[in-house]
Amino acid sequence: MPPTRPRATKTAIPEQLGFAGMPERLFVCTPSKLGAYTDCPRRYRYSYVDRPSPARGAPWAHNSMGASVHTALKNWFGLPVERRVRESLPGLLKATWVREGYRDVEQERIVYRKALDWLDTYIATLDPEEEPLGVERVVAAKTSVLALNGRADRIDERVGPEGSEAVIVDYKTGRSGLSADDARGSQALALYAFAAERVFRRPSRRVELHHLPTGTIAVHEHTEESLARQVRRAEETATDIMAAEKAVAAGESPDDAFPVNPGVLCGWCDFRKVCPAGAEATGKEPWAAVEHLTA
Ligand code: SF4
Repeated sequence: MPPTRPRATKTAIPEQLGFAGMPERLFVCTPSKLGAYTDCPRRYRYSYVDRPSPARGAPWAHNSMGASVHTALKNWFGLPVERRVRESLPGLLKATWVREGYRDVEQERIVYRKALDWLDTYIATLDPEEEPLGVERVVAAKTSVLALNGRADRIDERVGPEGSEAVIVDYKTGRSGLSADDARGSQALALYAFAAERVFRRPSRRVELHHLPTGTIAVHEHTEESLARQVRRAEETATDIMAAEKAVAAGESPDDAFPVNPGVLCGWCDFRKVCPAGAEATGKEPWAAVEHLTA
């Protein structure tokens, strides 16, 4: 079968400033928007540029489970201190449970039990009396290129050698454990720290990945320089995206300006069926990333 051609869509080009000497507009973005372009410019285009956006594939079970766990933890911090106990967890998880993407009810039930176990183990490590600086908190900051915003899972207040600090906490529910290198390399965590430092007016250098399935925490302590490096990279990505948008506005084919980047991600891509490169990749079942939990 020939590869499926993407549907003809309008490419929405953001408004450009047309007067010489006027500053370039800032690129409004979240870390995941930048990450989408870095992973695959074509996927970025399908998600953020083409309107209407091409149809996505079926929902993923691992996204359903991850979202359910994140919301249950958010709501746990929303409870009064005396109710932040393990007995509250089943009600919280049940109320937020997203059912989409599972192979069948039996698989969903097993994954629900696992998620509840992870939460049970995890909240035993938390002090219910400690109020984070923010839970699912949006932080925002501007640079000369970026108007950045993003929602951090949690921002803790800790007292370091130089007084109060804002610590970025990101929950993970994927299969593999995470290392300090993952925490160091995460552009999203660095950008949250950069923004949190400005929003909370205190240092924010420590970033943590809390992997619930293994109960491990991967930590990295940024420096001013390492945060600046990550911000610079984010600005370079934003500059590339704006250049691609301008090229399309000037008549270049959107397919050339936002090229495909075929690879292992294609099997997991929401746009696999509309993308010429993705159509050649073997797609994963929506429940593939939770199957190991039921083995
Ligand atoms: S299927 Fe692959 S090449 Fe196509 S948009 Fe998705 S990640 Fe990019």
